[in-house]
Amino acid sequence: MRDFKGRFIKGSEPWNYGQKGIYSKDTLSKMRNVKLGRKLTDEHKAALSRAHDPTYTHSKETRKLLSERAKEQWANNKKYRSGMIGENHPNWNGGESRRDYSLWFKEGFKNKIRKRDRYRCQLCGKSQKDELYDINQRLTIHHIRFNKKDIFHGYFITLCCSCNAKMNYNRSYWRKFWKSFMRKKGYLPKFIVRTPIKREVHLNI
Ligand SMILES: [Zn+2]
Repeated sequence: MRDFKGRFIKGSEPWNYGQKGIYSKDTLSKMRNVKLGRKLTDEHKAALSRAHDPTYTHSKETRKLLSERAKEQWANNKKYRSGMIGENHPNWNGGESRRDYSLWFKEGFKNKIRKRDRYRCQLCGKSQKDELYDINQRLTIHHIRFNKKDIFHGYFITLCCSCNAKMNYNRSYWRKFWKSFMRKKGYLPKFIVRTPIKREVHLNI
């Protein structure tokens, strides 16, 4: 579903999601024939794998070009600027950034997480030394469940500034990504044992 500006509304389901028996046999065979016997070139395969790699970034030159273009737009294009402020920004999340963190989320706690992750961004491997040199900031601590009230160390991961910015897009993907990452590392329990909810049975007698 799209809004009045034609932008995709997050979380809305495609009309045919999970449905069966909506295409006729004729249509199905036509759809099959389109893809039948078609092989992807190695170039095409490489491009697809690049597109699906979450750690892939543009080259330095491209990033510089994009940044310059964005700066120019910001300075000269009023419409662009207003679309990037507050609730008009594509990553706007209902004013979440103004809500409070847990009292535990202080420098001492963050340093423990950084130490556990050996002072390296866990996505691209950048070291804290390089980060301090580049932008004069320590590595950031990311809440993998996007819950500011979390205090359990298994829900935190060390990231560099630029990788942390990626987390604000496609949140459900990253939530799953980090949870399985933490399970593999042993910071999160492999299986969560949930006690079954007792359902009361009401009998109408
Ligand atoms: Zn990084």
